Amino acid sequence: MVKIIFATGNKGKVNEIREILKDSSVTVLTMKEAGYDIDVDENGSTYEENASLKAKAVMEASGLITLADDSGLEIDFLNKEPGIHSARFMGHDTSYDVKNKCILEKLAGVPDEKRSARFVCAIAVAFPDGRIETVRDTMEGRIAHEIAGTNGFGFDPIFFLPDRGLTSAEISPEEKNEISHRGKALRRMCERLKELGVIE
Ligand code: IMP
Repeated sequence: MVKIIFATGNKGKVNEIREILKDSSVTVLTMKEAGYDIDVDENGSTYEENASLKAKAVMEASGLITLADDSGLEIDFLNKEPGIHSARFMGHDTSYDVKNKCILEKLAGVPDEKRSARFVCAIAVAFPDGRIETVRDTMEGRIAHEIAGTNGFGFDPIFFLPDRGLTSAEISPEEKNEISHRGKALRRMCERLKELGVIE
């Protein structure tokens, strides 16, 4: 059994990757399960850089193949903000209810065709020999006019999926995994790890 670390403190993200890898030959450990608690300064200028910084730091400490992700919400009307600053947008201590209401206010009166937005996720893998590879995927949608739904987290209650007529907080976690930026990027990374012979 190959052991790899997923460098995140977010249990939801680890559960997602475990679900995707459940039939493979790999065991995914959280940082905590592997005995590490490393806080990496996400000071890169791209999602890929931030994911690589995290994966590299934990790989160097553990000696194990390490995956890490970085994600964010790009709102076209706000010049792609909050983007890579999504986790820090309005401060860590501000609730998403307040953050989401603030975004809705900034977009008050903006018509649907100008409310386009996307979630972006980059995933990096760092190998003990120093190689790093990254993949990226997105989920396209637009900013809703109202907060709706209680599933998901973060900006999900204001992220409207036009094909479904629902926000990403109104669909089930399984449905979200199928179409989400993170789910798609994780599956892309798994394909790459298979190509490289890391997992079966
Ligand atoms: P990080 O990837 O853990 O640095 O966090 C990125 C931030 O982007 C999160 O704290 C959320 O604000 C936002 N975000 C990323 N993915 C999602 C998602 O699937 N739903 C809602 N918000 C998200």
